[in-house]
Amino acid sequence: MQRFLKRHLSVTLLCDQSWCEMKTVYSLLKPYLKRKDLQRTEVQIGKEIHLSRELEIQDTVPIDIRTREDAEAIKLLNMLHMIPRLEAGECVREFPVFGVQEGVFVMGVIDELMYNQKGELVLNELKTRKHNSMPSSAQDKVNCFQAGLYKLLFDGLVRGEVKKDHVLNHLKLRSTQVLGARVQAHAKSIGVQVTTFEEMLDALLITVSCSDLPCVDLLQLEYYHQGSSGPIGNRVAPFDEAQLRAELQGYLAYWTGQREPKGVDIEEAWKCRSCLYERTCEWRKNRLQVSDQQTAHASSCS
Ligand code: SF4
Repeated sequence: MQRFLKRHLSVTLLCDQSWCEMKTVYSLLKPYLKRKDLQRTEVQIGKEIHLSRELEIQDTVPIDIRTREDAEAIKLLNMLHMIPRLEAGECVREFPVFGVQEGVFVMGVIDELMYNQKGELVLNELKTRKHNSMPSSAQDKVNCFQAGLYKLLFDGLVRGEVKKDHVLNHLKLRSTQVLGARVQAHAKSIGVQVTTFEEMLDALLITVSCSDLPCVDLLQLEYYHQGSSGPIGNRVAPFDEAQLRAELQGYLAYWTGQREPKGVDIEEAWKCRSCLYERTCEWRKNRLQVSDQQTAHASSCS
C-alpha cells in the first residue's frame, strides 16, 4: 500500500485482484492501459445503466467541495440521507460502506439495499452483461466475493464496529477541518447540524449503529443484458464468513508487503488470452518457460 501511496483499498480493486493479482498490479503500474480499457463501450453502457437505476429513485445535488474532508463528508451525508429511508422500508441505491478488515481500511458502494416480502434485508448487486447469458463460474465467483465483502462492511457499520479513529487515522483526515459552506448547508437541509468533519463522522456513526437496520440477510446477484435492456437472471450468492475472511487475508498479504504478487495458475491460464497485459506479463512468460522446460524434459526422458 505504501508503494502505491494507498491509504485504503476499494472493494472493486480487491475483486480485480481475485480475478488476477498480477493484472491488478499492472493496472496500477500502467494506468494508461487501464484507463483505455475503461473507455470500452461495454463498460460505458454498464455505467450508464447503473446511473439511470440510481436516478430512478434518487436525485443528484451538485455541491462544491474544497477539501478531502468535504469529499468524504458528502459520502457520509449520502448515508445519513439513506438510512431513514431504508429503515422505513424503502429501497436505496449506491450506499457507501467502509471499515477496517484485517487491519486494512476498505471502502465500497453497495448497488442496492431493500427488504423482501419475508422482511429480510437484501443486498442486490447489479451486473450488466454484453452477452445474454449467465457469467462463467470464474466471473460468478468474483461477484460472490464482492457481495460478501459488502456484507462484511455493512454489518460492521450497523454493529458499531467502525470507530471514529479508524476513519481519521487510516484516511489521514483532519477531525477539526471546518466543512465547506455548501456541504454544511446541504447537511442542514437534511436535518444534520454540523460544522467540522469530526461532527459529521460522529453523526453518521451514531446514526448507523443506533438505527433499526439489521445485518444483511441475503446476497443477490442480478444479471442484466445490455443489448435488450432486460434481465438475464438472478442468483443468491452464498456467504461463508470464515472462507471469505481467509480469502481476504490472502489478498491483503500482498498489500501489506508480506509477499510478492502472483498471476493466475496454469488451470486458469485461459484468463491470460483476454488480458490487456498478456504480451508483457512476466508471470505468464515465466510460466510458459517452465512449461516449455517440462515438455523438453519429458521428451528427453521418453
Ligand atoms: S497475462 Fe495472465 S497472469 Fe499476466 S496479468 Fe494477465 S491474466 Fe494475469
